[in-house]
Amino acid sequence: MSSELTEKALEQAIADDELELYYQPKVSLLHGKLVGAEALVRWNHGKRQAIAPDLFIPLAERAGLLHDLTIQLLDKAVKACGKINTAKAGLAVSMNVAPDDLESHTISKLIRQYLEQGAITANDLQIEVTESAAMGNFERIHDDLQQLANMGIKVLMDDFGTGHSSIDRLSQLPFTSLKLDQGVVRRMGTSLQNLNVVKSSISMARELRMTSVAEGVESSGAYNFLTANGCEEAQGFFIARPMALDTYLAFVAEEPYLAGSPIGRVHQAVYNLMYFRKCLLDAAFCRKVDMNDLLPSVMQADIDHSMEHSRFGAWMINSKEQLEGYQPYRELERPVKQLFEQGDVFMEQLHAGADDAHLNELISSFDEQFGYISQLLRELERALLLDTKQHF
Ligand code: C2E
Ligand code: CA
Ligand code: CA
Repeated sequence: MSSELTEKALEQAIADDELELYYQPKVSLLHGKLVGAEALVRWNHGKRQAIAPDLFIPLAERAGLLHDLTIQLLDKAVKACGKINTAKAGLAVSMNVAPDDLESHTISKLIRQYLEQGAITANDLQIEVTESAAMGNFERIHDDLQQLANMGIKVLMDDFGTGHSSIDRLSQLPFTSLKLDQGVVRRMGTSLQNLNVVKSSISMARELRMTSVAEGVESSGAYNFLTANGCEEAQGFFIARPMALDTYLAFVAEEPYLAGSPIGRVHQAVYNLMYFRKCLLDAAFCRKVDMNDLLPSVMQADIDHSMEHSRFGAWMINSKEQLEGYQPYRELERPVKQLFEQGDVFMEQLHAGADDAHLNELISSFDEQFGYISQLLRELERALLLDTKQHF
């Protein structure tokens, strides 16, 4: 460690406001557009290169300076949210926090105030906690995370794959996303085993009703693989490096779009529809085979069946510019809306105790629509593959 990295120097740096947040963009793999950024602290130390957080966050923790640092950084993040929102609505900033910040309730108290003052809305700010911090401090942080979740703040589990979570514990904390560790993501290319770890983490996130986010995406190969395998968001040098706020605001204004593989996305859209159908049938099946004890949780399953809230809807709505030139895409909207409505009716009728014959009728007209949509999606895949103007 360099001789300047002392507690005293850090304390002075906090007082002199030498710490700055950099922003690393995150994109949605459902459609390739920007969804927000992770805020990463940098210590601008005189004229020399900025000092990385790995070097001074542990020092801040040891020296009892973390509390002040967090308050300062949160304030910067909130101000940044205002500017980002002016440039473009709907983008989130995620902040890294340590267990001490959560145990002291610093985070939830401050965020509550910011929300009450109207400085931010719950969608503007997210919190990242590492898996090892979460698992090693379960009792200490549980309360604060729950309060944040109650305010509607999304909580991401960072560095997933490094901290030995048990699934049971994991599901007891109100995480909304799993952020796959960058080491795990980078090693994807080195063995099938690693590739399967990534794939199973993505499907675990799905089953836990969480979003999957891949970190450390450094190549187009990784980007396309994750897209085609159902990962929802990505962050990494392939997309962009962390940047100062002004640079990020200019980046936002350009409305960046990272196409990746449109076929991978269509493939995911097909999968998402099949998953929707499976959830409906699971619920019906539970009743049929006398699994009534499980019925409440299966029926509660959030099957995300709407244009606004489903993965499929997010793909459809945000792929317009890229895909509206294709006839099968243009034909999709009407039958998909109808399919979602049919799903609603099916669940209503199931709840209301409709008989098997009636449910059968509903599912068979659902399947007719489902078949038509699947056919359109296959046509779209072929059209994309044959289109010489599309470069993947
Ligand atoms: P993290 O939360 O896992 O952040 C991701 C780190 O990976 C960042 O390093 C980022 O610059 C780097 N990174 C992103 N994409 C790529 C990529 O494609 N390839 C490679 N090789 N690296 C990539 P950074 O900024 O040095 O941050 C290191 C750690 O310091 C963070 O790890 C986080 O745990 C901690 N940290 C950063 N900012 C804060 C903060 O404001 N508060 C607290 N408590 N911790 C922070
Ligand atoms: Ca992080
Ligand atoms: Ca991480």
